[in-house]
Amino acid sequence: MNEEQRKSWILSRKRQQAIDVPGLAEDVALGNRLSLGKAITLIESTKPEDRTMAVQLLELLQHRRKEALRIGITGVPGVGKSTFIESFGMYLVALGKRVAVLAVDPSSTKNKGSILGDKTRMNVLAQQEAVFIRPSPSGGTLGGLARSTNESILLCEAAGYDIILVETVGVGQSETMVKQSVDFFLLLMLSGAGDELQGIKRGIMELADLLVITKADGDNERAANIAAASYKNAMHLFPPNDNDWIPTTLVCSALENKGMEAIWQKIESFKNSTTLNGWLAKNRIEQQLFWLERTVQTDLLERFMAFENFSEMQQNAERRIIEGGESAFLVAQKLVNDWMNTYFSTHGKD
Ligand code: GDP
Repeated sequence: MNEEQRKSWILSRKRQQAIDVPGLAEDVALGNRLSLGKAITLIESTKPEDRTMAVQLLELLQHRRKEALRIGITGVPGVGKSTFIESFGMYLVALGKRVAVLAVDPSSTKNKGSILGDKTRMNVLAQQEAVFIRPSPSGGTLGGLARSTNESILLCEAAGYDIILVETVGVGQSETMVKQSVDFFLLLMLSGAGDELQGIKRGIMELADLLVITKADGDNERAANIAAASYKNAMHLFPPNDNDWIPTTLVCSALENKGMEAIWQKIESFKNSTTLNGWLAKNRIEQQLFWLERTVQTDLLERFMAFENFSEMQQNAERRIIEGGESAFLVAQKLVNDWMNTYFSTHGKD
């Protein structure tokens, strides 16, 4: 460790020691936005010492939260997501709602062009007292992003937000994960461009509870209405949902603040009908079960790979395939068995 690394290590130790987790939990529950930001930074961290504090924080806040309506918003870059969120968010604020906006952008882990990363986006919304906006964290894996988004949602609920908008980029990687964290999924699309041109896969369309054609203004208004009608027909061909909700299409112009009320009415009617038929509560439990399984899988895998002898064991296993011509399945089974034997002989069985 050189001098500079040593200084930054001491600084980060001091920062960790400076986090008073019960105090932070209290401030988050009081709705303090700065504290909420700090809490999210803590849960986004992958350092083991931060994870311990993050889990403690989540435990303290778990029973203090009020469930919010969670809405996923997706669409390809340029479709108008941030302009839409600005307009829709302002509409919700005018209704007296407290709104949190979170972003999930796996591409920002590769390049720095994170959605919501640019401070000029949503600047009117960002200035509202009742609004909290959080850009996508940079770095980390898609699984890590999904976990931190899921936990950030819980923190926003503990901070008293009524509606949580989760923005994703709509190119297929993150949507299926986000679907497991939200109640309602909104897909934004353009008129005049084929599905393929928009990079929207049919699988993503099938996730949508509502499809909204954006930029329905000026010369584009007619085309937007035609596109909405044809998508509506196409959506009838999709397999029915288990929540009895029939996905539909609408148009909007975020620039002219048009269509926001109709979109909100649809979302409210979704909420009412799925609350009545019990799907909303059931779905949230199923989502928790999904996260239980996912978290156990990633946790086990991380421990497995962090094991001190792991790379040696892995090289041996690879050699058995390359030189010994053995089958991957048998070698994998042996690798896991060897790991378990060595792990338990060094860590005991508890
Ligand atoms: P994102 O990449 O999906 O977040 O898209 P943006 O919100 O940044 O919008 C991309 C471009 O479309 C910008 O130049 C916006 O001004 C424009 N745009 C967004 N919404 C509308 C709209 O409702 N009408 C029109 N005419 N242009 C829009």
